[in-house]
Amino acid sequence: MLHFWSRIPEKNYAVTPYIAEYHNTWSNAGFLLLGIWGVLQAQWSLASEHHRALALKLYLLMIGCGIGSVIHHAIASKYYWRTIGADYVCIVLSILTIWTNAGVILPLMSLETQLWISFACGIFVLDHVWSGLRAPWGHVIWHLSSAWAMYCLGWDILC
Ligand SMILES: [Zn+2]
Repeated sequence: MLHFWSRIPEKNYAVTPYIAEYHNTWSNAGFLLLGIWGVLQAQWSLASEHHRALALKLYLLMIGCGIGSVIHHAIASKYYWRTIGADYVCIVLSILTIWTNAGVILPLMSLETQLWISFACGIFVLDHVWSGLRAPWGHVIWHLSSAWAMYCLGWDILC
């Protein structure tokens, strides 16, 4: 069934009294762990200085996405509109970084990365309009697949 354009919040404090949206919080581990691993890869890579700096920026923003998302999901849904900014700031900065460096990034992007980005974006849209992806699992898949897509994008820039 279709619903209005908004994510259906996970039932708050259903698993632990300390975290409002438990599954939507732990599933940010992908952004944090792959982001940290990406930062290390950017140090070790033999790619050009410019490509390493660009990948490093994207991986640092990825860690920022994870931190902002943890803040948004760990705090009760009744504060949704007070914490959504923390969730979106690094997402918007990531998109702006990709947009302004599209001339460098697009020729480097592998078919595999394009498919992962398409998959993640498709899950995002479905999670926001279709209740068939039952909360919180649609959003958990969005977190994990978008983290993997961002990691792959940085990898393409470094290779
Ligand atoms: Zn989220």
